[in-house]
Amino acid sequence: MARTLIGAADIGGTKILAAIVDNDGHVLGERRIATEPERGPEDGLARLLDALAGAAADAGVGIATLRALGVTIPGPIDPRAQVLPGAPNLPGWKNVPLGRMLRERSGLPVVVENDANAAALGEYARGAGRSTRDMTYITASTGIGGGIIANGRLVSGLNGAAGEVGHMVILVDGPMCGCGRRGCLEALASGTAIAREAARLIAEGRAPLLAERAGPVPTAKHVAEAAAAGDEVAQRLLDDAARYLGIGLMNLIHLLNPEAIVVGGGLTKIPGFLDRAAAFAREHAIPLMTERLRIVPAALDDYSGVVGIAWLALQHSDTILRTEEQA
Ligand SMILES: [Zn+2]
Repeated sequence: MARTLIGAADIGGTKILAAIVDNDGHVLGERRIATEPERGPEDGLARLLDALAGAAADAGVGIATLRALGVTIPGPIDPRAQVLPGAPNLPGWKNVPLGRMLRERSGLPVVVENDANAAALGEYARGAGRSTRDMTYITASTGIGGGIIANGRLVSGLNGAAGEVGHMVILVDGPMCGCGRRGCLEALASGTAIAREAARLIAEGRAPLLAERAGPVPTAKHVAEAAAAGDEVAQRLLDDAARYLGIGLMNLIHLLNPEAIVVGGGLTKIPGFLDRAAAFAREHAIPLMTERLRIVPAALDDYSGVVGIAWLALQHSDTILRTEEQA
């Protein structure tokens, strides 16, 4: 098969990764820039395309040789309408016709998808979920997101919002979540949740060792470091978060009966964290559904999004090209 190149960009709340990806999922060139969402979508997309041109130059190719452009967004987006209704991490980006804007400015066919869904596709097609048909992806870092592949297809849902695994309610009347509800998985097992609990214990004077290390504003990283140094309070914070993540995994197992659950995100770098969550899920889930299940760390790190959106753009490039020729 001749080499086909896709332009890919992963838009996050703080940074944008622009990359050139080939049809085998190899990243040939990349640039990272600050998102600075407050400068607005016009400015952000112009800088995204500049970064993509830089990545293409690094790869030794021109933008014109790209087959398509795939872009991921940190919020739900209908992949057909390609209009971003809004995203909590992109304040001011409201009702942005991303697909049309990027198409007009790049001259390329454009595919857009939610970032966690794209990461799920990346792991499914090129990463830890290869050779499966039913795979669930979950990412645990400052927030918790996910994507569901069922029978070889991404589950999008009516609004492109399926797979919001971070907002499964785990603890009725639990702590407040960023979404405005209580007791979501994200409010219990994310880096933000770990940091919030650490701050509470410090304020109550119940975590003196952690306070010494982190001061009044601890992060999940501080907690992980303190736990590694033997601080029992920090270890208990991580144990609690891992157990809640385990309950989330168990719910996903019961709902989807996947062949693999691929877990990405910064929290999986904490030694033993994913193992504890997986062990809890295996111990408590229906045994039939865990016998052949694999619970594994993601393989593509922070490239899962660009690799996944490039794969999606490649799969759809015939269709999107035809649609645009008709338009
Ligand atoms: Zn929530």
